[in-house]
Formats: sequence, structure tokens, C-alpha cells
Amino acid sequence: MASGDPQAHPGMLVLARESRAMTQVDVAAAMTKAAPPGAAVSQGYVSRAESGRLAVGEDRLELYAAALGYPAGLLCLDPRVSGVGVGLIHHRKRASLSAPALRRIHAHLALVRLQVTGMAQAAAAADGPHRFPRVLLDDLTTAKDVARQLRRAWDLPRGPVADVIASVEEAGGWVVMRDLGSGPLDAVSQWNGLQDPLILVNDHAPSDRCRFSVAHELGHLVMHPEPGPPAEQEKQADAFAAEFLMPAADIRQAFVGKVDLTRLTELKRVWRVSMSALLRRALTLNAVTEWQYRTVMVEMSALGYRTAEPVAVAPERPRRVPALVDALLSERGLAVEEAAACARLLPEDFHRLYVAGARPSPL
Ligand SMILES: [Zn+2]
Repeated sequence: MASGDPQAHPGMLVLARESRAMTQVDVAAAMTKAAPPGAAVSQGYVSRAESGRLAVGEDRLELYAAALGYPAGLLCLDPRVSGVGVGLIHHRKRASLSAPALRRIHAHLALVRLQVTGMAQAAAAADGPHRFPRVLLDDLTTAKDVARQLRRAWDLPRGPVADVIASVEEAGGWVVMRDLGSGPLDAVSQWNGLQDPLILVNDHAPSDRCRFSVAHELGHLVMHPEPGPPAEQEKQADAFAAEFLMPAADIRQAFVGKVDLTRLTELKRVWRVSMSALLRRALTLNAVTEWQYRTVMVEMSALGYRTAEPVAVAPERPRRVPALVDALLSERGLAVEEAAACARLLPEDFHRLYVAGARPSPL
């Protein structure tokens, strides 16, 4: 192979494979299927390609791309240079995820970053600089303080946040909703401090939960540029989200009187957070005793509210990425194939993920 010919980047081969939830054996089988008769590809080949011990170019690159369902050009990118492999990643999850499931989500997050960046560059979207501060916590600055500061910095009026996703987008963050399945993951975010912050949200959860998840990720983005004790950071992100969505000064009055199921359903309509988040907030603000809190929690469990609460909250939808897609297809008049190339996707994938319907697409 002549030097200068496009060659796959080992790191990207791994990312692309993990995003498809494929093993090296799967990739070898898919390549063999796409190869001319008699030209079998072994798992050992895939393993050596991924560790950089052999170069993947020309026909093999095309075969690899076909097996993974991505354009060959994507596989040639260096994930580190493209800024997708760096920066701390935070998750909001209800239980632990298996290592492969986690790697798959990380791979998706990295590819979403590439897709959005590619589209933004092609659309020459002239958005101003983002308005995400970095505020480190210390003895004098709590997560609650940071939430208050951010509400002020973003000019949010008192009371409930009208649209959390819109607030994040107006401040220059990217939010992408995908169906991440009914597994334990609610949201994941990434920001290396150089690009605009990115939050990937699982559409599988009810919207009140989505709102809290986005606020929780927002807390991580602003407060946690470096890994720390996980349990502590999770607590801080929750405290941030609680104050951001239900400022103590504004919601305290709502808890005066009896905080029972009826009251919680009324408050849920207004504040658009889950009844359990409201009840927890009431406890934090000493509006209910620990005993009252437990009593209502037991009632909610008995009614099955721990899995499905009453009162549906209107869903929030990201607008910034759809606007970008619209700019490419309508304003710039690109064909779907051309827009897909900007997002480094094959046209079918691009159509499924970014064009078809309003519903977020499964991975
Ligand atoms: Zn978290």
C-alpha cells in the first residue's frame, strides 16, 4: 500500500465496533460474508487491526466499513484528535451497567459528538460561545450554591424551569435523545472543556425523570471536570438538580400543610418533577419528618408508583440538532447522502437517527 492512502485508525475501529455491540468474532464473520468467495477474515485479523499491529487500507478498509455499517472515512479518524475520546464522562443510572453495555454507550457518545460536530461545521452554524461556567466546590461553595449561580447566570425566572433541555441548548450545550433501552442508564454527558458540552439522554424514561437526569448531568458538567469519589459526585449532582429544578426559596411555600399523595400530584403538575423527587425535596427542606417521608414512600410503593407514577409530564425535545439537520437539508439544500457524509454516517443510519419521525431512534 502506498503511504498516504487512507488507513483505519485502531482506536476508531474499536469505537465503531463497540457502538454496534459486536465482538471481534462478529466483525470477522461480517467481513467474511462481505468478502469475495474464499477470502475469509479471522478474529485474529480484527484483533491485530484494533491493536494497530497491521494496517487496514484499500479493499480491507472497505470491507471493514461494510461490516460495521459506517463510511470508510469514519474509520480513518483518530478519536483523540477528533476530540471524542477525551474528557470525563458522567452517567446517571439507577443500577450498575455491565462493562460491555457501558462501552457501547461511551462509543455512542463519542460518535454522536462526531456527528454533531461534523454537521455543525458543514452548516457553518455561527453560534456564539457557550455559557457553561466551571465552578469547583469547596468548603464555602456547595452544589446548591452552584445551582443558584447558574440559574442567575442563565437568567432563569423564579419557580419551575419551563424547559430544561431548552435552557441547556440556549446556553450552547448539545442535547441528543436516543432510545437507550429500558436498562438502568438515564443520561450520559461529556465535556473536555474545549468543545460545547454534550448530553445524551435516554428517551425511555418518563419526562419528569428525563428533566431531572438532564439537570443532574448539568451539575456534573459544571462542577466535576475531574473524576472524584463517585458516590460523593453523584450526591452533589443530585443536590444540584434538586436546587436547579426546585429552588428552596421558591418551593418551600408549596410544602406548607400536609404533604400527601394528593398534594404531590398537584405539585408534580406545576414543577414537572417526579412525586418521589418532590417528596425527597420536602425531606431535605425539613418540610416533612423522616417518618412522614417513609410513610408516603411506602404508600407510593404499594400503589406501584416506584415504577410508574401518575400525572404525565409533557415531554421536552431537543431542538438544536434538528435545526442543524434542517439547515443542511433545507437551507443548504444538501441531499440526504451529502448530509449523512457530514455526520460521518451511511445515509440509512443518518435518515433513521436524524430525519425519520420525531421519535428518538434506538441505537
Ligand atoms: Zn451522575
